[in-house]
Amino acid sequence: MKANVWHGKGDMRIERVPDPSILNPRDAIVKITSTAICGSDLHLYNGYVPTMEAGDILGHEFMGELVEVGSAVKNLHVGDRVVVPFTIACGHCFFCERHEHSLCENSNPNAWMAEKMWGHSPAGVFGYSHLTGGYAGGQAQYARVPYADTGPIRIDDELADEQVLFLSDILPTGYMAAENCGLQGGEVVAVWGCGPVGQFAIQSAWLLGAERVIAIDRFPERLAMASDWSRAETLDYEQVDIGEALRDMTGGRGPDACIDAVGMEAHGTGMMATYDRIKQMMRLESDRPMVLREVLRSCRNGGTVSVPGVYGGLVDKLPMGSVMNRSLTLKTGQTHVQRYLQPLLERVRRGDFDPGRLITHRMPLDDAPEAYRMFRDKADGCVKVVLKPWLH
Ligand code: NAD
Ligand code: ZN
Ligand code: ZN
Repeated sequence: MKANVWHGKGDMRIERVPDPSILNPRDAIVKITSTAICGSDLHLYNGYVPTMEAGDILGHEFMGELVEVGSAVKNLHVGDRVVVPFTIACGHCFFCERHEHSLCENSNPNAWMAEKMWGHSPAGVFGYSHLTGGYAGGQAQYARVPYADTGPIRIDDELADEQVLFLSDILPTGYMAAENCGLQGGEVVAVWGCGPVGQFAIQSAWLLGAERVIAIDRFPERLAMASDWSRAETLDYEQVDIGEALRDMTGGRGPDACIDAVGMEAHGTGMMATYDRIKQMMRLESDRPMVLREVLRSCRNGGTVSVPGVYGGLVDKLPMGSVMNRSLTLKTGQTHVQRYLQPLLERVRRGDFDPGRLITHRMPLDDAPEAYRMFRDKADGCVKVVLKPWLH
């Protein structure tokens, strides 16, 4: 089959690789009809995630049709159309029973690597380094899906791929980010990053009761999307001082909840940004926590900071004094996708979300290397690319 394969920083190639096959009775093989590139893939592309190996198949947002199911999979059948969650989870361990699927204790065969780095291991993830399992990803024509009897959700109706594909990751991620804010109704929520995760975080914040949502980015088309589609007030961090602007907009108090939908590759100007770039280059810190610092300082006293943005390792100059002295709550995590599949599918059906509107580019899988470049550089107004593995 054809697959998008990692060969090093900035080096993705479309290659012919062996078709996947059933290894365990709970596996299934999916023939992929749509797959997408995620902001998290950029961290791999830019070389910031350790334990990638040349030849690794990328991709963790995918859906398609089952062409083979293992003998223990009773609830799905060949021919079923499914969306596959990016987090791989067994469905029965301590964490899966608590619906904390991204912490599954059984799905990361390389748990020892993660334990060395993070103390304990989270779940396995498709196409996301050997640290999280070394699983082949879904930017390919086929993929093997472990624990197929608990993960994938069957799509029975006429909803197009583009309406349901993002259930695999970014829609639940935006939703969980807003849910983690613990909104009671009437809050001011600020969201850093108007990428795909930011857009769904904004839209979810409205659904969960926010009274005002303020969105921050620098790209005009993303800010426009945040105001026109996601209905947020917007701030361009290259035009205004964000901390000051947020204070002004909230009577000096700060937003009740703040969401970091940017993560470890935050862009910035000024001394701290240069400091982070140099330290990251010299491998003295693994991530650039520009946004995280700003988020922590901006949130109101006693407020909640929600971090869907991915961080990999160690960050420097984190204002822990601000967190402690001002009674902030910090909530974060890889998304427990399985938990949100059914309720969010229903919300898509009801029209609470119209996920297809996020897509700015559709390309054949063959063009994945070009698509990565475009998405990384935010070129050509690119917000989200969907790749078609069977299109030429
Ligand atoms: P993206 O790259 O499309 O969007 C990031 C946005 O952040 C860009 O629009 C960029 O301009 C903006 N940005 C950069 N620096 C900024 C700053 N200083 N202030 C404000 N905005 C700034 O990526 P995405 O797909 O939306 O993903 C966003 C983050 O969420 C990534 O870190 C990704 O890895 C993470 N993610 C996490 C999960 C999860 O399970 N927790 C799932 C998917 C994605
Ligand atoms: Zn992702
Ligand atoms: Zn589990």
